[in-house]
Amino acid sequence: SPMIVSFGEMLIDFVPDVAGVSLAESYAFIKAPGGAPANVACAIAKLGGNAAFIGKVGDDEFGHMLANLLKKSGVNSEGICFDKDARTALAFVTLKADGQREFMFYRSPSADMLLKESELKLDLIKQAKIFHYGSISLISEPCKSAHMAAMKAAKQAGVLLSYDPNVRLPLWPSPEAARDGIKSIWAQADFVKVSDDEVEFLTKGDPKKDDVVMSLWNDNFKLLIVTDGPEGCRYFTKKFKGKVNGYKVKTIDTTGAGDAFVGAFLQAVAKDPNLFNDENKLKEALVFANACGAISTTQKGAIPSLPDKAQAENLIKEAK
Ligand code: ATP
Repeated sequence: SPMIVSFGEMLIDFVPDVAGVSLAESYAFIKAPGGAPANVACAIAKLGGNAAFIGKVGDDEFGHMLANLLKKSGVNSEGICFDKDARTALAFVTLKADGQREFMFYRSPSADMLLKESELKLDLIKQAKIFHYGSISLISEPCKSAHMAAMKAAKQAGVLLSYDPNVRLPLWPSPEAARDGIKSIWAQADFVKVSDDEVEFLTKGDPKKDDVVMSLWNDNFKLLIVTDGPEGCRYFTKKFKGKVNGYKVKTIDTTGAGDAFVGAFLQAVAKDPNLFNDENKLKEALVFANACGAISTTQKGAIPSLPDKAQAENLIKEAK
């Protein structure tokens, strides 16, 4: 099936063993593989799709563990590089009692930030149907130049570009720098997925209002998706817009829900790139993506909880 290449960071999340505590209050942390673009690649592979990941980790135990996990998950790992000097990135993440997520990163610099343009497997990108990326790889050089070169190669080869900014403010010098950096590649995308919170951050407006969301619209877009946790998602195209309700599940850990959602959606697009022109087909793909996002919240960790196709179809059937 058509290949989806996901580009960016792969790292270790350390998550408190109990929910609802701050990082300072936490007693013990569980090691969880993460990095949104790596999660997306795993989500696609779990659904039976053809996914590749491009990024850099340290030539250390964590880096090799992550690369092996991707391989074991069925993701093409030819594009993974190992840095001899820098370490695999670490992030401490907690969902506090008030529902807000708190992040603390160890990157000084971490291996993911050191991916160079010359290390890119451009052949992989040019063969793809979709090239997916976030914004963390834009924060510093040399990774930023590698990211830009990868996007350019994809665009020239007629590959669809998919962007999920995944705003992580602590990684940027300032909120203004984050906004500018995230927006600097905005117009190149064919589709963009943002969360409600990200709409609020980027526009300083009310994300529930369609005209606020539409202020993020660019005429090059085929689709703009806004996700809103258990509520599901809203979609905006040139011709139509609407909402697709989410699923009620027993949520334990929402980490990676957005990535499960994106992976499922991209897998649907890889199979039918004309999805954007047919509202019913688009809605069907978003129903599936919502189901995958929901299931991913029912277990701890981003990758272990990723659903296969049958699990997602079952949830959809049960809810009818
Ligand atoms: P993250 O950054 O945690 O990966 P996100 O903020 O990018 O996630 P969300 O809006 O939290 O994205 O979730 C993406 C999708 O996953 C939602 O549109 C919804 O379909 C599903 N989802 C997320 N949280 C829940 C939940 N608690 N219950 C049911 N479905 C959920």
